[in-house]
Amino acid sequence: MRIAVIGAGPTGLAAAYALSGRGANVVVFESTSVSGGMARTVTVGEERIEAFYHHIFTSDEALVSLAEEIGLGDRLEWLPPRNALYSGERLYPFTTPGDLLRLGALPLMDRIRLGLFVLAARRVRSWEHLEERTAREWAVETGGKRVYETIWKPLLASKFDDYADQVGATWLWNKTKLRGSTRGKGQGREILGYFRGSFGVLYDTLTARIRAAGGEVRLNTPVLTIRSLSAIPQEEGTLLVRTPEGEEPFSKVLVTTAPAELARMAPQLPEEFREALTAIPHQANLCALLELSRPLSPYYWITVADEKFPFVALIEHTNLLPPARYGSSVVYLSRYLSPSAPLFRADDETVAAVFLDGLSRLARTVERTSPGRMRWEPSLLKRIRIFRADSAQHVATRGYGKRIPPHHTPIPNLYLNCMAQIYPEDRGQNYAIERGLRSPEILDFPGRSVP
Ligand SMILES: Cc1cc2nc3c(=O)[nH]c(=O)nc-3n(C[C@H](O)[C@H](O)[C@H](O)COP(=O)(O)OP(=O)(O)OC[C@H]3O[C@@H](n4cnc5c(N)ncnc54)[C@H](O)[C@@H]3O)c2cc1C
Repeated sequence: MRIAVIGAGPTGLAAAYALSGRGANVVVFESTSVSGGMARTVTVGEERIEAFYHHIFTSDEALVSLAEEIGLGDRLEWLPPRNALYSGERLYPFTTPGDLLRLGALPLMDRIRLGLFVLAARRVRSWEHLEERTAREWAVETGGKRVYETIWKPLLASKFDDYADQVGATWLWNKTKLRGSTRGKGQGREILGYFRGSFGVLYDTLTARIRAAGGEVRLNTPVLTIRSLSAIPQEEGTLLVRTPEGEEPFSKVLVTTAPAELARMAPQLPEEFREALTAIPHQANLCALLELSRPLSPYYWITVADEKFPFVALIEHTNLLPPARYGSSVVYLSRYLSPSAPLFRADDETVAAVFLDGLSRLARTVERTSPGRMRWEPSLLKRIRIFRADSAQHVATRGYGKRIPPHHTPIPNLYLNCMAQIYPEDRGQNYAIERGLRSPEILDFPGRSVP
């Protein structure tokens, strides 16, 4: 049976690995020149690194066990991050429960309320009652208005921009729970996982396994359309996948792109179904990757809770991993925004200028209020690259659980398995892999596991 998988991101590669492991003849179509999707890599010095910052949590079991299964278990490194919060023109350490108790951005009573909110969130077992509430409503009610305004509102705005007030409470619940659960065995400290050689080693190995099983991963091959050969598309029939190279028949087609891309590729889908697919809002991500001649700060992750800056997070990768690997200090500046926002559409030079101006202003303010915590001057910059992801994060608004698109589309043998179906968890490589590996079941593929 020939199966087409559209997209060579974590979901598509995990799906193709699982399907080819069951004996299917799989062709993966990828529009860009690299595999890995949003976890794709570039090089800094001699080392590979993600174009967009990536780490995993100890609770990311599907990814960890797949890594072990394909012989990469010993490549995983677990490291303790140091985090900070920039709020009210100051930089506060924000890693441990002690940091939370000392957080000068909030009066003592509110720090206690914040701690109680976090504990309450971690104790929630069934999330269904949060479904019909927004994160804002739930956070204000449980932790108070000032905690919401200082901590949660900037966090929500940093990820969802104009949609911040509409995000469902389940998202905030999950985020709070997740950060609390990524701890080393017997340790109270948060630890994060990263592959020696980047996450690219995982996606390269999956690609090699797919090819070894007789499958293909075709890069630079965007899928233009998918159509059913049946006179009535809602009836069983061969599916034709069209790329710039021509049209090819497949028994089954699995789409792993954003839902709106499925609506675009498959015009035979009923109008109502296509409208539901395009109605799911997505945020884009704009990310600058900086190579510096010395470290910027002592922190891995700084949340910038201040709308005056063009980025919402500053991630100093080489404060988690050793800078010697890269021959530079590596810093990401990240911003989520609407894919139609002028800054997202601006050219690289403009984005770089806006981000670097923001970095200068941020460093100047931090130097004034928290001396020695951020040392920046333009001469430190060796290189800056700008990366864009159009559909970086779907927005799970109130009641999203009822609007998740199904895996089975109205066209027989055309399936959707994508990021926007991950719920109530937030998207991430782990869930992409977990869902990808479930694809034989979703496609009702009868093959048996091939040793
Ligand atoms: C800024 C940022 C930071 C992140 N940080 C983390 C992190 O720290 N940890 C973590 O686990 N996750 C992180 N993620 C999320 C992670 O990258 C995603 O969850 C994961 O990549 C989703 O995989 P996917 O395969 O479902 O989708 P994608 O990675 O989006 O892959 C889809 C693929 O489909 C291809 N495609 C689209 N249309 C077509 C077409 N018509 N024809 C052919 N191919 C097509 C795309 O080019 C792409 O390669 C981050 C994401 C971003 C943007």
